[in-house]
Amino acid sequence: MSALNCPVCNSAEVEISRVERDNGLGLESIRLVNVPFLECRRCGEGFEEFPAYRRLIRQAVELLCQLDARLNGQEIAFVRHALNRSQQELAGLLGVHTVTLSRWEIGHSEVPAPADRLLRALAFEHFGRKRPAELSTAPQHRRRQRPITLDVEQLHGETYTYETPHTFGGTNHAWVMSNDG
Ligand SMILES: [Zn+2]
Repeated sequence: MSALNCPVCNSAEVEISRVERDNGLGLESIRLVNVPFLECRRCGEGFEEFPAYRRLIRQAVELLCQLDARLNGQEIAFVRHALNRSQQELAGLLGVHTVTLSRWEIGHSEVPAPADRLLRALAFEHFGRKRPAELSTAPQHRRRQRPITLDVEQLHGETYTYETPHTFGGTNHAWVMSNDG
């Protein structure tokens, strides 16, 4: 699918397989399928490839923001990272104290409905998407359907550039690539 060299030893002898990843974005609520897993035959290094990484993040955020239950702490932190906001910045936008936002993110208290709705609206605005009219009444993804399955292959593109290893929630340190800028 793509001509890639090993990022460690630069060998072109790279074998590609497809894997599934629960918690693939550091989120229990999202399961990734068709994630290309590349293994170097020379040095043995293995790494996951995320084509269209930014699009993947955007899609994950949009799916989360259509859940008919409030975002949990992990999801709030994920959305905040996707919006490139610090805790201080997002707390300011939501009109709450940083400590309050921090408590939501670590799961010590539940985000109140108005802040939950505002965060979703901010996310849709950030990605230039119209907020779904059904956001508050009939979301497409019900919490009981979790985890949401996201097919990485549908985001597949043709050219790749390397990005630095990315971390979300301190749990995911795969090699990350992107073809969407
Ligand atoms: Zn190698």
